Amino acid sequence: MDSSFRWNDGLESMKYISTRGQSPALTFSEILLGGLAPDGGLYMPEQYPHFNEADLAAMRGMNYRDLAYAVLSRLVDDIPPADLKAIIDKTYRPEVYCHARAGQDAAEITPTIKLEDKLYLLSLSNGPTLAFKDMAMQLLGNLFEYVLNKRSEEINILGATSGDTGSAAEYAMRGKRGIRVFMLSPHQKMSRFQSAQMFSLQDENIHNIAVKGVFDDAQDVVKAVSNDHAFKKQHKIGAVNSINWARVAAQVVYYFKGYFAVTQDNSQQVSFAVPSGNFGNVCAGHIARMMGLPIKKLVVATNENDVLDEFFRTGIYRPRGSANTYHTSSPSMDISKASNFERFVFDLVGRDAAKVRELWSKVDAGGAFDLNAQGLFGKVADYGFVSGSSNHANRMHTIRATQEKYGITIDTHTADGLKVALECREADVPMVVLETALPAKFEDAIVEALGHKPERPQDLAGLESLPQRFVVMDADVDAIKQFIARHT
Ligand SMILES: *Cc1c(COP(=O)(O)O)cnc(C)c1O
Repeated sequence: MDSSFRWNDGLESMKYISTRGQSPALTFSEILLGGLAPDGGLYMPEQYPHFNEADLAAMRGMNYRDLAYAVLSRLVDDIPPADLKAIIDKTYRPEVYCHARAGQDAAEITPTIKLEDKLYLLSLSNGPTLAFKDMAMQLLGNLFEYVLNKRSEEINILGATSGDTGSAAEYAMRGKRGIRVFMLSPHQKMSRFQSAQMFSLQDENIHNIAVKGVFDDAQDVVKAVSNDHAFKKQHKIGAVNSINWARVAAQVVYYFKGYFAVTQDNSQQVSFAVPSGNFGNVCAGHIARMMGLPIKKLVVATNENDVLDEFFRTGIYRPRGSANTYHTSSPSMDISKASNFERFVFDLVGRDAAKVRELWSKVDAGGAFDLNAQGLFGKVADYGFVSGSSNHANRMHTIRATQEKYGITIDTHTADGLKVALECREADVPMVVLETALPAKFEDAIVEALGHKPERPQDLAGLESLPQRFVVMDADVDAIKQFIARHT
């Protein structure tokens, strides 16, 4: 390791505060196993650590593991440095990120693919479940195991998934002692590959619940259960959905990796295009930028569920009800309430928690807010955000064009990202599109676009014909509570 880098081996203090300002400041491990703060807010670092030019120069040559430690050791102050390093080293091993494309180096963990001059893909989906969520979830699995073991405690993880979170969580937690997973997914709304990936797990600590409804119905059940503080305490309910701070923190790392991969020195700026739903991935980009990474633009790409695009174009945040959530061919972005968005707005309003409470009192009551009146919308540009949206026809076109032009098959979510990236590109600034899933995960859409199936990693051949293990339930909070109680 480079000795000029300011490692946080002395563990300078880092506390986490709620965006709603009415919960006590806590340490990383104290918020690790929970979800929302008790006041309904999301945890944020009290202040951002800052990487200066010398830090960035030293970080440039680091491999993924050292880079992850450099970033995360500034955000975690209550795990001994040697233990944190060991957890990171165990997580980011080439064997775990074994689904790299032919010609890619799995040891890079998140290799880049150059499409053309100043246009790249950042491969975040080479992990066990072929989606970027493995990047954070694998770390979470090892952090949970470490902290629970230290405290001789258990946890029952309750989550909602539109597809990729659930499988990433289950593959990260399967077989781990002291951990059970209860994963709610919208019944028959995931791709066959996604359902098979989750439902074929036979591990006893994994429980799949297919909820009749859309993703937001499943997420509302999770929220209702989590708001029942007595039940939550009695059954040791924890969360791994995208509001979990440790997931956001883990995702910050690959923005650094991608930046160094496409630049020669730290005077250069890079833009990132991020296929977005719950705003977790691009929120990590925002945090990397706040920590001093030279990011020019953060391009928020949505599908037909364009609540975020609407905000970044108009200043109006208007979450839609589940009845107005479209089921699209990029289903992992079929989200009408972006749960991590509050983290960015907290920064945008100058960390004024009373302001966040005022805005979200409207959202939580099913309404909208408009930042134009307050003169706050003008500040969005200072944070580098721009946006765009993509529809099914755009997606099909982008998949075909990428195949023809570059000989590379991309999935539907990455296609949304690339489509909007091309609209927001600037001549002198490299644009990195985050590849959030591999095409094998969304076979039907690829067949529609290209007329043939995408290549599938050999170890996943025949996945859909494996025996499946799941229950189908109504979006009924009490019934689901009873199911959890029976199985804990
Ligand atoms: C989860 C997911 C997204 C959206 O990420 P957010 O962090 O929710 O914005 C995009 N693409 C894929 C493939 C995903 O699994």
